[in-house]
Amino acid sequence: MLSSLPPWGGTFREERSDVAVNPVMLVHGGAWAIPDDMVEAHIRGVEAAAAQGWEVLQRGGSCIDAIEAAVVAMEEDDTFDAGRGSFLNSDGRVQLDALMMDGATLRAGGVGCVEHIRNPIRAAKKVLTESPHVYFVGPGAERFAQEHGIELCANEELILEREVVRLREAKKQSYLQMPDEFGPMRSHDTVGAVALDRDGNIAAATSTGGTLNKAPGRVGDSSLIGCGCYADNRSAAVSTTGWGEPMMKLVLSKWTADRVEDGLAPQEAAQRALYYLKARLNGHGGMIIVDCKGLIGLAHNTPRMAWALCTEERKASDITFKTSSL
Ligand code: ASP
Repeated sequence: MLSSLPPWGGTFREERSDVAVNPVMLVHGGAWAIPDDMVEAHIRGVEAAAAQGWEVLQRGGSCIDAIEAAVVAMEEDDTFDAGRGSFLNSDGRVQLDALMMDGATLRAGGVGCVEHIRNPIRAAKKVLTESPHVYFVGPGAERFAQEHGIELCANEELILEREVVRLREAKKQSYLQMPDEFGPMRSHDTVGAVALDRDGNIAAATSTGGTLNKAPGRVGDSSLIGCGCYADNRSAAVSTTGWGEPMMKLVLSKWTADRVEDGLAPQEAAQRALYYLKARLNGHGGMIIVDCKGLIGLAHNTPRMAWALCTEERKASDITFKTSSL
């Protein structure tokens, strides 16, 4: 009924029960191969990120604030392909994408191709909370961030020597032009978080430096609504990682959330999504899910995916996920 739509920029809020629910914090620190000598750093990084988000949820904070805290922790950690230390594009620059989505209102905020923002997820949250728009790119995104209190930095501040060497090696090896490659060159990855708060609301966030040696201006799945991130209280909050192009074509996060809305358990939905990705486009990746009941899903068809979970009952983390892991 069109007449009942909220005014431009308004939102529909899903009605929740008054009963406080047990919160859930779940993060990933990327899929792909993750070499043995990077495993400990990945586990430490995802555990620290989940702990940051959990702290917010435990004191009654919102799912939005919790996923921001968790993703900022991983953007600040050089281990991951997000924020400082990300893969370099073919011009030798860090170019970052991030998205945050609120399941209660369907508000979303995204930034793409930013080069001067240390924590793009903070800028994405500003878009979600303070803009009638949903997505900003490049200089416009940076201008928006600055106008909303986010300090800009030099691109050089985001570049690690480790990544300069990695890019040089990648340019020498033509097989690495193929992005869906499990070689040790692709050893670190995108980060993401999903959370359920005490009010019964869910949210999702994803932040990435994209793929190694990507063409300048390339945007992957991570920061696109429904591709690398999606959240709706009626279905689920989803964050993905992996080879972005196939995931974009399948709008994989929304596809998965729809399966949950249709009645599949999040774990079953996550597994089916990865089968679908592989069967339809020979894609590889991983994902994390939480729904409003606190049910979670984790799956990957890459050799490894770092993850960490915090609930009242358990704290768990690992570098691969099997249903027996929990
Ligand atoms: N999905 C990201 C992208 O394609 C990269 C990744 O998660 O590995 O930009």
